[in-house]
Amino acid sequence: MSQLPDNNNWFTEVHTADGSAFSFKLTEKGKLHEEQTPFQKIEIYDTETFGKLMVIDGYVMLTTRDNFLYHEMMSHPALFTHPNPERVLIIGGGDCGTLREVLRHPGVKLAQQVDIDEGVTRASEKYFPELCESNDDSRAELHFVDGLKWVQEAAPGSYDLIIVDSTDPVGPAEGLFSEPFFRDCHNCLAENGMVVQQSESPLYHLPLIKDMYTAMGSAGFVGMQTLPFPQPVYPSGWWSCTMAFKDTALKNVDSKDIASREFREQDSENRPFETLYYTTAIHRGTLDTPPFMKKVLAGLK
Ligand code: SAM
Repeated sequence: MSQLPDNNNWFTEVHTADGSAFSFKLTEKGKLHEEQTPFQKIEIYDTETFGKLMVIDGYVMLTTRDNFLYHEMMSHPALFTHPNPERVLIIGGGDCGTLREVLRHPGVKLAQQVDIDEGVTRASEKYFPELCESNDDSRAELHFVDGLKWVQEAAPGSYDLIIVDSTDPVGPAEGLFSEPFFRDCHNCLAENGMVVQQSESPLYHLPLIKDMYTAMGSAGFVGMQTLPFPQPVYPSGWWSCTMAFKDTALKNVDSKDIASREFREQDSENRPFETLYYTTAIHRGTLDTPPFMKKVLAGLK
C-alpha cells in the first residue's frame, strides 16, 4: 500500500511525532461501540484480520490477535523474577488480560486490579470475554479508582509486585510515570518487592525510558531492566516493559545484573501453564539489552 488509506473501512492511528501510522481494515460492521466516560473515549472496532480492536482516546490499546504478546511479557518475566510473588497489584490493566496471566501462577494469593475507568472493563467483558475469564477467580479483586490515589493510601509493605499496565503518559496516566508515584509504589512494596511498568517503544520512546530510570532510581529502586518485545499494533511495532527492584540488600551488589541473577529460570521452565509467546529462552534473551539502548541507559541503573 503506497498511500495512507483514508476511507471509512479503515481505522488508522497516526503517530504524528514519529511520522508513521498503522491501519486496520475494518469489516462491514466497522465500529461496534463508542462511549465517552468521565476519563476517556473508548471505541471498539471489528477488523478483518486482527479481530476486535480497542481504542482509547484515539490510541490503539489492544486487538484480539496480538494482545498475548503484551500481556504475557507484562506478567511472566516479573513473576518469574521475584522470589515468591504472592500479593500482586495491577494499576490500570482494565481489559483484564494481565490479570488473567498473573492468575496462571498458582503461588499468587491475591491479585488486585485497580483501573480508573470501569468502562474499559465492561467493554472488555463484552468484546474480549477471553481476557476476562479469570475475573471470578477467588484471588482476583477489581477496583475502579485512580491508581495514583490507591498507592498513596496503601499500607506500607503490602505488595510483592506492582504491575503498571497503563495507557500512554498523557491524560489520567500521566502521573503513573512520575517520581512521586514510584515513591508511593516503593513504600507499599514489601522489602524484596518489584515494580514492572509498560515503557512504550524502545525505538521511538527511549528518552521516556531514560526518564523512567531516573524517576525510579530517585524513588529508591535499583536494577532497572527494560525488556523489549514485539507488538505489531503499537507505534514502531516494538514495545517494552521495565522492571525495577526495591530490595535494599541488592543495593550493595552490582545492580546491572539483578534481573538476570534473580531470574528463577527453573521455575519458568517448569511453569504449569501454556503460553503463546513467553518462553524461558525468550525471557533470557530479552535480558540482553541491545547496544543502542545500553548507550542511552548506561549508568542509570
Ligand atoms: N496495553 C495498553 C497500552 O500499553 O497502551 C494499555 C491497556 S490498559 C486498557 C490501560 C488502562 O490504564 C486503561 O484501562 C486506563 O483506564 C488505565 N488508566 C489510565 N490512567 C490510570 C490511572 N491513573 N489509574 C488507574 N488506571 C489508569
